[in-house]
Amino acid sequence: MINSQAKSRGFLFLFMNKKFIEEMKIILEKQKTDTEKQLSEIAEKSRRNKNGYEAKFPQYGRAEDENADEVATYVDAVSLGDSLTSALAEIERALEKIEKNTYGICENCHETIDEKRLRAFPAARWCLACKTKTK
Ligand SMILES: [Zn+2]
Repeated sequence: MINSQAKSRGFLFLFMNKKFIEEMKIILEKQKTDTEKQLSEIAEKSRRNKNGYEAKFPQYGRAEDENADEVATYVDAVSLGDSLTSALAEIERALEKIEKNTYGICENCHETIDEKRLRAFPAARWCLACKTKTK
């Protein structure tokens, strides 16, 4: 793949899809706010890692069954927190790509990503063909 070819393809895609990309930007920004809100309910910003989150440890009570519930809730919060944090990173990356005018271009093969795929998954980094190949 010649790089300049990919670049001009990216430019053409942007030129042809300005309205679509604006639309995706609004969706991505909404997803970002929603994800951050969800995260703040189960986790708090990490003091050690500036962009990280740590699951809140619930306090139900001191009884043994309450302690077990606390641990179970905490374990759930940690795994949900992890998936929300990575979803948030993907969303932020997609928003960055919009800023850099590379949104909608597959990061693997530099072909344009199908509009239908982007509508279903606005933060998609790879086209469907590349995504399927690596699975
Ligand atoms: Zn691709």
